[in-house]
Amino acid sequence: MKILVINCGSSSLKYQLIDMSNEESLAQGLVERIGIEGSKLTQKVEGRDKFVLTVPMKDHKDAIAHVIDTLLDKVQGVIASADEIGAVGHRVVHGGEKYASSVVIDEEVMKDLNDFAVLAPLHNPPNIIGINACKELMPSTKMVAVFDTAFHQTMPEKAFLYGLPYELYKENHIRKFGFHGTSHKYVAYRAAEMLGKDVKDLKLVTCHLGNGASVAAVNGGISVDTSMGFTPLEGLLMGTRSGDIDPAIIPYLMDVKGYSYEEVNNILNKKSGVLGLSGVSSDFRDIEDAAEAGNPRAKLALDVFHYRVKKYIGYFVAAMNGIDALIFTAGLGENGVETRAEIATDLEFFGINLDKEKNNVRGKERIISTDDSKVKIMVVPTNEELMIARDTLALI
Ligand code: AMP
Repeated sequence: MKILVINCGSSSLKYQLIDMSNEESLAQGLVERIGIEGSKLTQKVEGRDKFVLTVPMKDHKDAIAHVIDTLLDKVQGVIASADEIGAVGHRVVHGGEKYASSVVIDEEVMKDLNDFAVLAPLHNPPNIIGINACKELMPSTKMVAVFDTAFHQTMPEKAFLYGLPYELYKENHIRKFGFHGTSHKYVAYRAAEMLGKDVKDLKLVTCHLGNGASVAAVNGGISVDTSMGFTPLEGLLMGTRSGDIDPAIIPYLMDVKGYSYEEVNNILNKKSGVLGLSGVSSDFRDIEDAAEAGNPRAKLALDVFHYRVKKYIGYFVAAMNGIDALIFTAGLGENGVETRAEIATDLEFFGINLDKEKNNVRGKERIISTDDSKVKIMVVPTNEELMIARDTLALI
């Protein structure tokens, strides 16, 4: 069976068609600028030149129709009939407390997703638009929702509750949810396979370091804590997001600087993180280049980022009373040789010892700790699409 995986953003959409008989990716694509001038579809197929289609796409339905047409195209396509798409797996950011695992989408699920939109106003609405567009275009094809929050639903109350009035949790669902769950789960289970161990016997700290970044404590195959919270703003500082700050800074800014709610929100989500500190860029490559060229604020931004990741590793080693492996994934985690070296240095106290030679790797699975390191350090490229396709296949 072939499964189409859809990850819908507000003006973009990523897709992948996976043949589940051998888990081979048949085509991967990205549609950008949906509903904006200059809409563009880019598709990659192994062994072929990249295909680019520049055509107006007024909405997500239009975009998905072009995705299906491209997959079916006589020259660029990889399937002969839309019937070959056995099911569609959708990445959905927020599944609230109700969904601790993936689910076949029906009317009740759609109602819940709409209800959860208040918890993830930037992410869930485009996810819903993508599902509705697919349903209209493929009315008889089964759809599955795979939630970013689901893997973290195993966190105990002591980890997910904030020190706020309990009613705010009960009535307004204010608690830590955690995100990037599909990625943390994939790399944790894959790391266990690489080590030839049962994931149930392992204490793992997984570092998903990309534009968005989070760390998770995975004990015995389940998430017991993670750095992101009620929203993806908590925890590590990221490309443009602040991560943890003293909450009192928010009313202080509104009071002293006269900022509105929107302005504060914009600062915390779009102007902070390594961009805000460095003043250079939200992209780690640009910041590393600037730091190397002697820009002190770029160096400072990297120092603050590395230090924050290290602190979370420490929290989670304490939370699990140990660690068997430290795992790096996502754009920066998979490719940032310097980043990994900075984070994994001076953690010898925990038995974490990096092998500098082995660490010289980008985007490939590898154990990068010294042979005698008590804790394995690992690079495990994430594959959220494959996880979504596996869940979809299992459910249908
Ligand atoms: P992601 O959100 O997972 O796509 O990750 C994006 C981040 O990974 C960006 O900040 C990139 O600068 C960073 N990244 C990607 N490749 C590299 C690399 N070779 N070296 C350092 N950072 C990288």
